[in-house]
Amino acid sequence: MNEIVSPFPKDASKVQATGCHAGADEMLRAAQAAGKSETLERYAQDYPKGPHDQPQSMCPAFGSLRVGLRMRRTATILSGSACCVYGLTFTSHFYGAKRTVGYVPFNSETLVTGKLFEDIREAVFQMADPALYDTIVITNLCVPTASGVPLQLLPKEINGVRIIGIDVPGFGVPTHAEAKDVLAGAMLHYARTEAERGPVQAPRGGRSGRPTVTLLGEMFPADPMGIGAMLEPMGLGAGPVVPTREWRELYSALDCAAVAAIHPFYKASIREFEAAGRSVVGSGPVGRDGTAAWLEAIGAACGVARDKVDAAQNRFLPAISSALAATPIKGRITVSGYEGSELLVARLLIESGADVRYVGTACGRTIWSDIDRQWLEAKGVQVVYRASLEQDLAAVHEYKPDLAIGTTPVVQKAKEQAIPSLYFTNLVSARPLFGPSGAGSLATVVNAAIAGKARFDEMKDFFEGVGTGHASGVWQDAPKDRPEFREAFRRKMEKAAASRNVEDAI
Ligand code: SF4
Repeated sequence: MNEIVSPFPKDASKVQATGCHAGADEMLRAAQAAGKSETLERYAQDYPKGPHDQPQSMCPAFGSLRVGLRMRRTATILSGSACCVYGLTFTSHFYGAKRTVGYVPFNSETLVTGKLFEDIREAVFQMADPALYDTIVITNLCVPTASGVPLQLLPKEINGVRIIGIDVPGFGVPTHAEAKDVLAGAMLHYARTEAERGPVQAPRGGRSGRPTVTLLGEMFPADPMGIGAMLEPMGLGAGPVVPTREWRELYSALDCAAVAAIHPFYKASIREFEAAGRSVVGSGPVGRDGTAAWLEAIGAACGVARDKVDAAQNRFLPAISSALAATPIKGRITVSGYEGSELLVARLLIESGADVRYVGTACGRTIWSDIDRQWLEAKGVQVVYRASLEQDLAAVHEYKPDLAIGTTPVVQKAKEQAIPSLYFTNLVSARPLFGPSGAGSLATVVNAAIAGKARFDEMKDFFEGVGTGHASGVWQDAPKDRPEFREAFRRKMEKAAASRNVEDAI
């Protein structure tokens, strides 16, 4: 008689008590033992880790969740610990998602016995209504990934509704930006397979009469129109932005003359475009130098005649130069973020006149950002990929900028030191970046922030004497710091981790 083998490891419940604050190595080992080696090896190649082995920003699954929630006729189901799902749904609604997030809860028993997978399967069948959805996306968070919940065994299609299962664990995908690529890549793969099998849906407004350039990476809504205008003299048009807003756009994205990897970390998506025979161009039309080089590279990739490339450059480069000259930025700036467009933003700041000393990006290095990195390094800028929070803070400390552009903790620290600062995601990413409308768009907000230095000095003076760190606040007797306790805890934690490793090895 054949033995029925559960796809789940016997000790799956062990991982339930862990999460992004637990040892990533332990989760990784559990996931490998549970049959997720292939997925994790691919992630390790696509998104190599940096100095830290776990996300220092928000849960990475937020990236792929947001991509799904922004797509028409797409349902989203999360499979993970309730606390993770609570955080993710809270954040997605905080950022304006108007959709329901589906959740299949689990406990130790359903996790260990494989019932969780059956529950997910049942939920997917219940939701697969073609009148409502084109696609259902199911995401395994950390614990179900580490437990090997086999989403790949779900049907690829139910009643004509596409089913896409992805694993997005914090111990395999380092940033939420890269998690967007996990889902975009999985969707492109599915759509490419459909297109290879036969005719697919045309774009909503019909096929473009001219060859198009697909734009890879989320951007300010007006940017694709501006890019389209710059492509027009070359006989090209702007194609869809990937991640797309609806399924049929995936076919148009694949049906392009070339792909512009505006955000350079979309490695899984680029793999799909290359498999479809499309060439990929890095960097973006940012500032005068960046736009000149980008139009040149797009022209070469799409086989555009020299005179047409010249026509595009002659039409737009003078306008960009004038806009940059009309809105100069004066001051020293450090830039850090986790969106993937940090190098492009730094280029625009420099062309606007800013003295940029440091660019840290939480995303990994790829060949698609080499042009930007080389341009920045030639200007003496320190460029750090997979930058840790500690590196970003050290840069602020070392370069003492007039303005620190960064993530929440960087902005917080800078403000404590009376350094004006801007939050990258909300205040910098939310502006046009490319072509003539991008040139000068940052100057207003950047110059206003730098001009606010006097207010920070006033505030610092006002709060002077209320203590810092453990002694913050107004005290009759200021609390006494106990570094020896922290040191003792650290030693105990190390000892406990070492004995856990020995137990695991046995
Ligand atoms: S799913 Fe996200 S929040 Fe939950 S443990 Fe993993 S990284 Fe942390």
